[in-house]
Amino acid sequence: MPIPVILYHHIDEPPPHGKFGRSHHVSPQTFARQMRTLKRLGFHGLSLKEAMPYINGEKYGRIAAITFDDGMMSVYKHAMPILNELGFTATNYFVTNQIGGQNAWDIPQARPAPCMGKAELLDWVAHGHEAGAHTLDHVHLPQIDRHEAERQIFQSKQELENISGQQVVSFAYPYGEENPLMRRLVRQAGYQYGVTTAQRRANTHEDPFGVPRYTIRCRDTWVHFLAKCLWRK
Ligand SMILES: [Zn+2]
Repeated sequence: MPIPVILYHHIDEPPPHGKFGRSHHVSPQTFARQMRTLKRLGFHGLSLKEAMPYINGEKYGRIAAITFDDGMMSVYKHAMPILNELGFTATNYFVTNQIGGQNAWDIPQARPAPCMGKAELLDWVAHGHEAGAHTLDHVHLPQIDRHEAERQIFQSKQELENISGQQVVSFAYPYGEENPLMRRLVRQAGYQYGVTTAQRRANTHEDPFGVPRYTIRCRDTWVHFLAKCLWRK
């Protein structure tokens, strides 16, 4: 059965209708309801690296991989307590030059929002959650020169390993933008998995450097949420 890999960004009250970035917010109450629904349906929520053996068909179980992009403080404050309470793990993809900073790549269109600092990142990892890399500066990888793309992919891994004290095996392509060269660079940097934003569930034949994810959006009703986890392809 295909496995849902779901993607969130901010777990916080959304900006008003029509404002930039609204769709990338899910309120803390909605997030808690979605996680409890998964639990009630018999799903176990896992970080990407823990979910990969299920995606590969090496292990069997009712699994949802839970991921967050950008390492936002709101995830630490509002999502981690729910995940911990339910015994779920998750992956957060950090923009390493903004650890302790903010969503600089989105400003001025978006309202400023703080990213986790080193202390929160260490606490995230200490609770069994995964720290993945999302480049140094949240760049458009296919649009920059190859040397700079390499630097963004390779150095973010090293820096995150230095900070977290853990091996970093997962990478998320910023804006979901990738191509065969980017997948190759991510492999060469020593990552084991790369996640995209192809909007579908993951199958057993997936390229480990092109794992699809479903974005959970502000406007998603519980029917949309369940469709992404359960019956849409
Ligand atoms: Zn991002």
